[in-house]
Amino acid sequence: MPDNAVPTLTCANHPDRETMLRCNKCEKPICLQCAVLTEVGYRCKECVRGQQAIYFNAEPTDLPIAAVIAAILGALVGALAYAVLGRFGLYSFLLALFVGPFVGGIIAEAVRRGVRRRRGRHLKLVAAGACVGGMLLGGLLLYGGTAILAGAPLGYLLAALPAVFFRLDVLLFAGLAASAIYARLI
Ligand SMILES: [Zn+2]
Ligand SMILES: [Zn+2]
Repeated sequence: MPDNAVPTLTCANHPDRETMLRCNKCEKPICLQCAVLTEVGYRCKECVRGQQAIYFNAEPTDLPIAAVIAAILGALVGALAYAVLGRFGLYSFLLALFVGPFVGGIIAEAVRRGVRRRRGRHLKLVAAGACVGGMLLGGLLLYGGTAILAGAPLGYLLAALPAVFFRLDVLLFAGLAASAIYARLI
């Protein structure tokens, strides 16, 4: 018996390569280099890409929407955190530890509703980053803004920077809120 009784397959992308493998979705023969091992078995790159396109269904406007929602809520909560946390002395860290993730969860939910629960590839990263940026901005406006309203020159906003950055309790708070947002969004 000649051994060509078993039909040999060649890779759809590399006609010179014999293979035993088929994509388990479209059945196309693929070589090892063209195969992607997924949770449901080997698939061709085209099928994997198609699957991701369906999974990530965000509209182009969803990223800016997520950023604006997270930044505005972050600024409000941030200003509040700068104003309140410091009054608790060392307990401010404990408070940050408990309230940070909770606040992050609420902001994540607001973002999720804002983008109508669509899934985006960079959505959680953008929302978490915008939240931290918003919180720092909230502190800057709280310290610098109030001083400027009281008659200080505009440059005072820069003078308020150290007060914003050397507040480890609020930075811990912001970091925990951001990681909760990152963990909860898809
Ligand atoms: Zn395929
Ligand atoms: Zn191939």
